[in-house]
Amino acid sequence: MKKILVLEDESNIRSFVVINLRRSGFDPIEAENGAMALEKLKANPDICLALLDVMLPDIDGFEVCRRIRATGSKIGIIMLSAKGQEIDKVTGLMNGADDYVTKPFSPAELTARVDALIRRLGVDETETNTNELHSGPFALNTRNRTLEKNGQRLKLTQIEYLLMKLFMENPGKAMSREDILSAVWGGDFKGELKTVDVNIRRLRIKIESDPTEPEFLTTVWGYGYKWGY
Ligand code: CA
Repeated sequence: MKKILVLEDESNIRSFVVINLRRSGFDPIEAENGAMALEKLKANPDICLALLDVMLPDIDGFEVCRRIRATGSKIGIIMLSAKGQEIDKVTGLMNGADDYVTKPFSPAELTARVDALIRRLGVDETETNTNELHSGPFALNTRNRTLEKNGQRLKLTQIEYLLMKLFMENPGKAMSREDILSAVWGGDFKGELKTVDVNIRRLRIKIESDPTEPEFLTTVWGYGYKWGY
C-alpha cells in the first residue's frame, strides 16, 4: 500500500482525509504539525506523496515543503490551502509543490488529485530503455531522473523534470500551454494554464543564466513555449 503523509493540525479535517485515503487503498501517515511531519518523513522513506496544510501552529506548510525539497526528496506534494487566493497557489508551486487543493474539498476531489499525481510521478518509472537526452549544455538522465548543465547537477521537482523531458524530446517545437498542461499533468487534470507559467518560471530560474532573458526555454507569444536550443 502506498504511504501518504497527511499534515493537518485540525483533527476533524485530518480524520476526514485519513478515512478517505484508507477507503481508496492508501496507507495514511498522520502528522499534526510541521516538525512531526518532517520526523515521520525521515522515519518512513517510502512515503510517496505528502498532503501539506498551509496554516499550522509551528512552521507553515510552505516551509515544510521547502525543507522536504531541500533534502533532495522528489515525493509528490499537494498543498491543502484554506485560502483560495492566487498568491497561495503561486507561493505553493514556487516552493516546490506539485499541486494544490483548496479547502473545503470533497473526498472524490482529493482522491482524484492524489491518483492523478501518483500516476504522473509513476508514469516514467517503467521507461528504462532510454538513458540520457542531450541538448546543448544539458543532459537529462531518464533512469535517475536527474538533470545536469555543463556537468553540474540541478535539483528539479518531478514536475520540472517532466517539463524538461517534454521540451528536450521536442527541440524547436512550439508547444501550446494546453499541450504542456495535458502532457505533464495528464489529460484529465483540470488545472489552470497559469500552473504551466508558474512552473516554467521556476524552471527557468534553475536552468537559465538570466531567467528574464531565457536562452533555452523561450516564450512563443500568445501561444506557449519552445525549447529553443
Ligand atoms: Ca490548519
